[in-house]
Amino acid sequence: MEVFPNEKNEKVSTNRSSGFYPRTYIACPKCCKSTFGVLMILKDHYCRRCRECFYPKGGQRAASFPLPELNKSVIYLDQFAISNMLALNPGAKSGSQTRLDLPFWLTLFEKLDSLCKLQLIVCPDSDFHRHESMLSAFYPPLERMYELLSGCVSSGPRNNSQVPGYGSAT
Ligand SMILES: [Zn+2]
Repeated sequence: MEVFPNEKNEKVSTNRSSGFYPRTYIACPKCCKSTFGVLMILKDHYCRRCRECFYPKGGQRAASFPLPELNKSVIYLDQFAISNMLALNPGAKSGSQTRLDLPFWLTLFEKLDSLCKLQLIVCPDSDFHRHESMLSAFYPPLERMYELLSGCVSSGPRNNSQVPGYGSAT
């Protein structure tokens, strides 16, 4: 993991080995090589830097570009929906669905997953999900399911410290 300072000198971490987002390179305005990549993506803008000539350098104005304003819809999924979507996984039969229900839950999961990745919706997780999932033998996959759809956005404070065998989320 690499750590970079942003324009406010706050440390921004990344798990990208090169520090740049892959497949984002365009022509550098300084050296003209196709090495002007996206270095950081922040809340409302992103920053580029050349991996060859390092433009813009310390004293130069940051190559910062605004991101479009997001207008996401918030959809709260109850535990019933999460459990039934998890049950699509052959190794986890935690839901109460029958075979006849599977196409419905598969379609729902595919649509929610696509809409989340398109940044059109967010399905926040909550302490209710965590508490109800703790009672299941499928806690880890349930947690992965609601975190996948939430993008780790929570509708309340996160506290996994009460789950035996699982560390704090902070
Ligand atoms: Zn350059």
